[in-house]
Amino acid sequence: RQQEIWERCDAYHNSFLIPSDDALEHARKNSDENGLPAIAVSTAQGKFLNLLARSIGAKKILEVGTLGGYSTIWLARALPANGKLITAELSEKHAAVAQSNLEYAGLASKVKIMVGPAADTLTCLPEDTFDFVFIDADKPGNLTYFLEAKRLVKRGGVIIVDNVVRDGRVAIPTESDDNVEGVRRLLEHLKTDKEVDATTIGTVGEKGYDGFLYAVRL
Ligand code: SAM
Repeated sequence: RQQEIWERCDAYHNSFLIPSDDALEHARKNSDENGLPAIAVSTAQGKFLNLLARSIGAKKILEVGTLGGYSTIWLARALPANGKLITAELSEKHAAVAQSNLEYAGLASKVKIMVGPAADTLTCLPEDTFDFVFIDADKPGNLTYFLEAKRLVKRGGVIIVDNVVRDGRVAIPTESDDNVEGVRRLLEHLKTDKEVDATTIGTVGEKGYDGFLYAVRL
């Protein structure tokens, strides 16, 4: 019942704020038809990421975890004409679907998909390059990706990590799995990391109860 309310709220608010969009709808449908899991960010969350990237005037964006490129489209649309986005994805199949979705959206020239384990991909990228990083891949890798993101992002740049609340389970000591532990390791690290300042913002909506971690590199 709660989930129904959250879905209704998202649909209601989106009906005023987010017009229907052929390229984004195509990305969801094509990803679904190709058997990709339905674990992309919600429509409202995608728009939120787009607004965040625009509000800091991001010109170079890094994404970790592409799936079918749904969040990639939202983020790439935040870029100016000469902006660039690099997105790291493990699965060749996901990357191929994302590539076709980005071409359909007319964004392929701004986006480079790098296929392989993100931990390897990120170490190949030059430091102090990106304005905005969105981390949304395997959750056990969160701390590794965050530390790399901190190296890659410019001072004043933003790092967002998705799925850090996990239906409240991260905060329940008796709950544990690899994803929950992946979030806890990141939080534990952040307690003493003086090079960033961060907060968690819980979210509810069509994707249930979860949250974003928002960090700024100092
Ligand atoms: N950001 C996407 C969106 O909102 O549209 C959703 C990404 S989905 C939650 C996570 C993605 O991370 C999957 O496509 C998965 O294949 C990828 N992934 C998992 N492990 C990875 C790894 N070690 N390196 C890179 N990508 C990985």
